[in-house]
This record gives sequence, structure tokens and C-alpha cells, in this order.
Amino acid sequence: MMALRLHGKESLRLEDVPEPKLDESGAIVKVRATSICATDVKAYVTGARTKIPITLGHEFSGDVVEASEEFKNYIGRRVVVNPNIFCGRCEYCLSGEHVLCPNRYAIGIDVDGSFAEYVKIPAQAFHLGGVLEIPDHLSYEEASLIEPLAACFRGQLKLNIRPGDVVTIIGAGPIGLMHFMLAKSFGASKIIMSEVDGKRIEIAKRLGVEYIVNPLEEDIEKFILNLTNGRGSDVVVVAVGSPHAQKDALKIVGRGGRVNFFAGLPAGLEEVPINTNFIHYKQITVLGTSMQTPLEFKKTLELVASGLINVKPLLTHRYSLENGIEAFTKTLKAEGLKIVITP
Ligand SMILES: [Zn+2]
Ligand SMILES: [Zn+2]
Repeated sequence: MMALRLHGKESLRLEDVPEPKLDESGAIVKVRATSICATDVKAYVTGARTKIPITLGHEFSGDVVEASEEFKNYIGRRVVVNPNIFCGRCEYCLSGEHVLCPNRYAIGIDVDGSFAEYVKIPAQAFHLGGVLEIPDHLSYEEASLIEPLAACFRGQLKLNIRPGDVVTIIGAGPIGLMHFMLAKSFGASKIIMSEVDGKRIEIAKRLGVEYIVNPLEEDIEKFILNLTNGRGSDVVVVAVGSPHAQKDALKIVGRGGRVNFFAGLPAGLEEVPINTNFIHYKQITVLGTSMQTPLEFKKTLELVASGLINVKPLLTHRYSLENGIEAFTKTLKAEGLKIVITP
């Protein structure tokens, strides 16, 4: 089968590799849609992976085509899979905070992923409720966005967004826009976005973002204070891996506010001088989130299935696996929003 494999720093190859073999327990999924994530791009840029070469891709949906005895009834079903495989037995897993599991590994990050015709699903994914059937009215493409959306969903749950809150999202890429959609469904009264790229600003406006500021052209702090009667934002989500954005977040958040450093910073830029008095005197909470628990994954699928969140406008490009390298290049240039490969 064909697979898009990372061989090291900036070395991605479309290769013919053997199809994955069914283990004693588990399943094989024929990949129908798999979207490219910033994490894949980061892996490409740094070449850093626990296994090299590796087939990338962790946001995917498809059909179960083979399964061990235990999961036989899944054969033929359309599924979306949580790529994070947790142990289910450590204290974090037992407490429901699976994302902190020290034994976690992920499909497309530590083992071969979904930028291929077939992907192997371990039994543990089934056991922890990570293999979910896609409702008939949702497309494979839409389902492939459940994983990143679920990570955003977790981020907002941890921020405890309440109806009427003013929410500011820094970064209007696909993840920022997912946060926008979710904040709306959480009942935010005003959602403000900050973005430096002109094309992304246009897309955000088309998607219904009312308040958007370009911090390179306008003073972001003034902009936010004007919109909040001088109060600042109740909640700030930093959806871009930029030290500057993190500093801005502490400035624009209001008293008693909450900030989520949702995006990790690139290697070498993690040390950020910040004014910690903002945290102390404004009594704000700064937190970080990544990934999603099995429950958050399931709830997110339900959010999309119910129509509360419509991810379709985020799907801007579709490529075949044969043109996977081209799809990747497009993502690297930050063109479009979510780029989906349909093997
Ligand atoms: Zn991802
Ligand atoms: Zn665990």
C-alpha cells in the first residue's frame, strides 16, 4: 500500500510499504479521510519522532475492514478513532484525566499513522472507548476533524467558559477557528480574534468572526479594552505557538480571568519573560491543555453530530494520497484551513 512516511528532518516520502497485519487483538481500518495537523508539520520540520521512519497522520476516519474475534462486530462500520492510546490503569487514567497518562502513546506519533491506505488499531483503543461509529449523516472528512476539535473542546472545558463571558482567541488558523465555534456554543457573549495574516483575517470574517484585530497594525490591548468597557477579556485562548502571543494574553485578560496556552512553543523559544505581576495582581489562572480524554472525544463527536458545531467550512482542500506531498507543502505554507487526504 502507499504511505506518506517521515524519514527525518524535512524528509517526507510517498512509499510502497506492506499493509499492516492484524494482531491477535485489534483491527485494521481502511483510511477514508485524514487531515493534516500542525503536529505533523512540526514533525516534518524537526524530524523528531520516537520511531523513524514513521507513517504520519493521527486525525482520521475510515472503515473497519479486519478485526480480531473480540471486535468482529465492528467490521464494515464507519469509525473515527482517538489516536491517543492510554493505559487505563494509572492514577491519571483512573481519575479520568487520561491525557496525563505516562504510558500513553499515539497512532501517527509513536506508531504508524493514517497517511496510508490502512492503519492498525490496537485493542486498547476499543477497550477505552476510543473507536466510535460515525453517524450516517456525517462525512468521513467531517469525522476526521473530531480529534483536533476534541482537543479544543477540552481546552474550553478547562477554562470553564460560562454564558456571557468575553473570549479572546489569539490566532485564526484552523485551531483558532475551532475555538471560535466552540466558544459560541459555550455561550460567549463576545468573541474577539487576533491574527496577523491578512488571508486568515478574511477567512475568519467570512466565517462570522465579528471582532478581529491585527496586532501588527493595532494595539491589541486598546482594542480589547475598548470592546470590554476597560475590563479586559474573561478568557484568552492562545492558539498560536508564539511567545509574543503568550505575553499579549497576560496583558489583555481581565481580573480573575483565565488563560490557556493551548499551543506549544517551537523548540528554542520556550523561555518567555513574562510579567508575573499580571498573574498575581489580576488573580488570573494560566493553564495549558493538550489532547483529549476518551469522554471528551465522544462528546465532541456528539457536538458535531447534533449540528451544534459545523466543521464543514474548515475543510478547504482535499488531496489524494498520491498528491500527499503537495498537500503537505500547502499546509506548510499555511494556505487554506484544514487539508484532508482521502486515500
Ligand atoms: Zn492533530
Ligand atoms: Zn494511564
